[in-house]
Amino acid sequence: MSLPAAVLDALRDAVGPAHVLTDPDATGGYAIDWTGRFRGRTPAVVRPADSDEVARVLAACNEARVPVVPQGGNTGLVGGSVPGAGEVVVSLRRLDRIESVDPRAAQLTAGAGATIAAVQRAASGAGFRYAVDLGAREVATVGGTIATNAGGLHVLRYGPTRRQVVGIEAVLADGRTIRRLEGLEKDNTGYDLVSLLCGSEGTLAVVTAARLRVVPRLACTVTALVAFDSVAEAVDAVGTCRRDLDSLHAVELFLGDGLQLVCEHLALPRPFPDRHHAYLLVECAAATDPSEQLGDVVASLATARAVAVAVDDARRRNLWRYREGHTEAINQLGAPHKFDVTLPADRLAPFVDSIGDVVRAVVPEARVWVFGHAGDGNVHVNVTGVAPDDDAPAEAVLTAVARAGGSISAEHGIGVAKRRWLPLTRSATELELFRALKQAFDPRGILNPRVLVPPEP
Ligand SMILES: Cc1cc2nc3c(=O)[nH]c(=O)nc-3n(C[C@H](O)[C@H](O)[C@H](O)COP(=O)(O)OP(=O)(O)OC[C@H]3O[C@@H](n4cnc5c(N)ncnc54)[C@H](O)[C@@H]3O)c2cc1C
Repeated sequence: MSLPAAVLDALRDAVGPAHVLTDPDATGGYAIDWTGRFRGRTPAVVRPADSDEVARVLAACNEARVPVVPQGGNTGLVGGSVPGAGEVVVSLRRLDRIESVDPRAAQLTAGAGATIAAVQRAASGAGFRYAVDLGAREVATVGGTIATNAGGLHVLRYGPTRRQVVGIEAVLADGRTIRRLEGLEKDNTGYDLVSLLCGSEGTLAVVTAARLRVVPRLACTVTALVAFDSVAEAVDAVGTCRRDLDSLHAVELFLGDGLQLVCEHLALPRPFPDRHHAYLLVECAAATDPSEQLGDVVASLATARAVAVAVDDARRRNLWRYREGHTEAINQLGAPHKFDVTLPADRLAPFVDSIGDVVRAVVPEARVWVFGHAGDGNVHVNVTGVAPDDDAPAEAVLTAVARAGGSISAEHGIGVAKRRWLPLTRSATELELFRALKQAFDPRGILNPRVLVPPEP
């Protein structure tokens, strides 16, 4: 797993010796993912400071046919940022510059290594907001969220990351750079390479900067937690919220057993005296106070068993902790198998109700936790109590999703975790095109070679 001396020299020349890490104590944190399920080793972590340095690093690796893994915040959940086969890690975190918002265009330019929280703060400082928000906001980066086309909490209203990206600067495997950062909202000059790079998971190019849309900051936000006796009732209530709440900002689902785990793990009080089977967290945001509108709609839900409404930030944050605490609480049970899937709206409730039994039929000792972005038909199925390399839960969950007409990845991507199962929901013709694109962008196959694109059958 060592690198030829000439390659190491070229990397040191490109970024300076201090930014080529080779000591396993220093590289270890770059070689394991956030969940602890995906682990690898790397001969070097290279930390370029700008796109020119990224270009020199990639050109050197391409020349020597050394595979690389681009890495941002390393919060990805499908193993795509981990050097599982001894790849060089190219960490983009030093490219964290954010330029000020242009209010005329409602756009800003950010380096690939800027965190989502930093972009949110920059947008907010200019009276705007950045529409992408997710639990990993303090660590996840612009480049990583583009590479995974991250979703998050407000897809329902603003769409995923792809919809926020107006332009991209990216370095190809051989070191050539494409730069489309002018911020043109209309540009019909052929293939949309910017959109193609969104969701490409570091397999086509390394994103070094992006021109991002920002949206109006909405002064008033109100959040409600609503309890139901069944998932079907909760899913039906999502439809009512969509129809009657024009300020709808987020609709999140979790279940009674997940809530119990979060309360125990984070030492939180239960939200309601009684236990219920399903919960929706419904948030509205608008220029004027939407609490009356939200209150009226929640009161009209005949199936609601208990309701808590929070208007001030501290109480709203408390309600969000019940939902956002799930990832952390589940993780402390041991490295989970994570499946991030979308179902057609009419299949969502039956899927949520049955998936625990589907998994336990093949792994009886498994525990299954379901929560997610109900407004998008997107649920996260987490399976604990199973060995990290046991594929049985993936086979069971992803096959069930495909049979129900869903997608095996709603927002986390394919990575290494789901590559084997991509043919479940992508046709042979589509996969041929994937391979042709990969070949066109990265003919020597050095960029994230184990990720996303399955090998020829
Ligand atoms: C607590 C928690 C909550 C989360 N919530 C959500 C959620 O709600 N929605 C959601 O979609 N995801 C969520 N995630 C997953 C994760 O945060 C996203 O996938 C995020 O987009 C990863 O960004 P990152 O910078 O950490 O990328 P990394 O993990 O470093 O990399 C992810 C992938 O992108 C590639 N990559 C990284 N940077 C670049 C670059 N500059 N150019 C090219 N390729 C690159 C990597 O090679 C890898 O394949 C969550 C994760 C955690 C830990």
